[in-house]
Amino acid sequence: MEVLYRSTRGKEEAVTASQAILKGLSEDGGLFVPEQIPAMDKSLKELSEMNYQQVAYEVMKLFLTDFTEEELKNCINRAYDSKFDTEVIAPLVEAQGAYYLELFHGATIAFKDMALSILPHLMITAARKNSIKNEIVILTATSGDTGKAALAGFADVEGTRIIVFYPKNGVSPIQEKQMVTQKGKNTLVVGIHGNFDDAQTGVKKIFSDRELAKELDEKGFQFSSANSINIGRLVPQICYYVYSYATLMKQGKIAEGEKINVVVPTGNFGNILAAFYAKNMGLPIGKLICASNDNKVLYDFFNTGIYDRNREFVLTTSPSMDILISSNLERLIYRIAGNDADKNRELMTALSGQGKYEITDEMKAQLSDFYGNFATEAETADEIRRVYEACGYVLDTHTAVASSVYQKYLKATGDVAKTVIASTASPFKFTRSVMNAIDSKYDTMGDFELVDELSGIANVEVPKAIQEIRTAAVVHDVQCDVDEMKNVVKGFLKI
Ligand SMILES: *Cc1c(COP(=O)(O)O)cnc(C)c1O
Repeated sequence: MEVLYRSTRGKEEAVTASQAILKGLSEDGGLFVPEQIPAMDKSLKELSEMNYQQVAYEVMKLFLTDFTEEELKNCINRAYDSKFDTEVIAPLVEAQGAYYLELFHGATIAFKDMALSILPHLMITAARKNSIKNEIVILTATSGDTGKAALAGFADVEGTRIIVFYPKNGVSPIQEKQMVTQKGKNTLVVGIHGNFDDAQTGVKKIFSDRELAKELDEKGFQFSSANSINIGRLVPQICYYVYSYATLMKQGKIAEGEKINVVVPTGNFGNILAAFYAKNMGLPIGKLICASNDNKVLYDFFNTGIYDRNREFVLTTSPSMDILISSNLERLIYRIAGNDADKNRELMTALSGQGKYEITDEMKAQLSDFYGNFATEAETADEIRRVYEACGYVLDTHTAVASSVYQKYLKATGDVAKTVIASTASPFKFTRSVMNAIDSKYDTMGDFELVDELSGIANVEVPKAIQEIRTAAVVHDVQCDVDEMKNVVKGFLKI
């Protein structure tokens, strides 16, 4: 059955999957959503006998229906290969009564690799299918991890350029070093004077600039997005939830059909939305537990039905979740509004105008799959130390937010269903915060000294991604104000 994609904001014609991937964002500013969520057509038993690549194919073929089997398998095999440091791609580690789904074994050691290692292949295939002659210019705003993963995915990919904007003072030193050392003639990395929301809003503005789009087209370029609003990122993320369930079954930890809970450390709401889609495909998921840090706008939303971004933006030790406008939530809002684009647009207009909206009781009643909570900075650090001291397993700060929220959920509900916690980054990416949480004596050590220390105490080899940046030269040093972003883009493209 063919799945078409519609904008959450308009009455625009539905487009194919490949067209939605190429566009990234709909012209009316909305996000593309599948007209219906397909049901899985393989049994859980069958899935439990498959490897990662096979599961990925079974999931993605149901959503990306205008890709041929050969095209899709080709994309999958080029993405999930030896760039990952483990053959299973996404290992499940049991610790302290939960299952940590390690999504950080790709090239940049954060979960963004799960989708961004395949997105360039999907996009190039989509361009070919739609006879696109223009060069594709990927514009990306990053809170730290998307940027590097997108750069790694698109660097030197023929027919593409990539421009990444990150908040100059809002990412970890290792995240920044990873980005500014990125090689590839088609890459540009820019630090903006502002926070992630400023970067994201700036990028969205450039996207919806019709005049600029026309100018670009005349010069042989067109924009697309590698942000998690792109359906080409969302769909690959559904795969690992299905795979984690299959793995639990294979390992005999759960019976076929047994419900599991899923905990996701959340920022832009992309990862947890993928879990929600997996549930709607028929995967037996009970609760979707949405974990926030001190920027707890989603926690408040799930509790009150009011989304309110009018608050102080807090810089935390889990920077990839320092977000007050969770873009992908719009896809959920559209759905609980009964796929009503007018209603959704009204709420999103209120969000960009007053910075706030309230959903109806009827809509709120449809959020019972979700549980939201948050972890403070102290709770996050305590959780890293607790798990480490109990079993020697070291969590990164984002995963620790999720793990801490899971403990709160357990206390509040007593729900003992088996639980998968999305482990979204390697602790080596946030070494200083992680080591400080374990012992204050590490405070005086240098960044890379800490890396070696962590390797010792966790008994884990230093990942290649970290080894590489130790000696790599800085090749990007551009900075700009938010209102200069458009000019920076034009300068890079020489238009
Ligand atoms: C991006 C990111 C998140 C947040 O994921 P969303 O899909 O934006 O909700 C959490 N943890 C890490 C390490 C990330 O890189």
